[in-house]
Amino acid sequence: MILPIVIYGDPVLRVKCKPITEVTEEIRKLSQDMIETMHNARGVGLAAPQVGIALQLAVIEVPPDDESVTYVRINGEDTPLAEAMPLIFLNPKLDHGKEKAMGEEGCLSIPDLRSEVRRSAGVKVEYQTLDGETRTIEADGLLARALQHEIDHLNGILFIDRLSAAAKLGVRRKLKRLMLEWEEDGLIPSKR
Ligand code: ZN
Repeated sequence: MILPIVIYGDPVLRVKCKPITEVTEEIRKLSQDMIETMHNARGVGLAAPQVGIALQLAVIEVPPDDESVTYVRINGEDTPLAEAMPLIFLNPKLDHGKEKAMGEEGCLSIPDLRSEVRRSAGVKVEYQTLDGETRTIEADGLLARALQHEIDHLNGILFIDRLSAAAKLGVRRKLKRLMLEWEEDGLIPSKR
């Protein structure tokens, strides 16, 4: 089932999400619906608060031929990217690598806005699977970027919070204009 995506301005995008203590049928269904919703919106990732649910759950699917990803390790073992996707992860804990990288990002909750964001080039994330198993995933490139972007969502942080001061100024202006368009399009409630 394709779920409606919450748009910038909704307070659910700003809360710290609760950990999932038990994987119920609802959680399984939600994660499948999130994958379907992400595919439908042609996104690389989607976090539960983006469909209005403040739980620590997110999904990622980086295209299997993405060349920016030079390694994926699951539980320390080299894994082909295609095999690791789609990734459904619960209650993640993020370890940043030392090296940083710039890369362009967008967000399904902030349509039509893209900007360069400085992030760790490589990360290691410990998470739980739907089977209750604890795993680690290490990756670089777009997958590392997507992991950081989605984990930020689970903490109420958006990519526009991570921009340089100069980029933030430009984005603030563009956001004001976009929000008026979203209002007109009925994507967000009207303030008038
Ligand atoms: Zn996003």
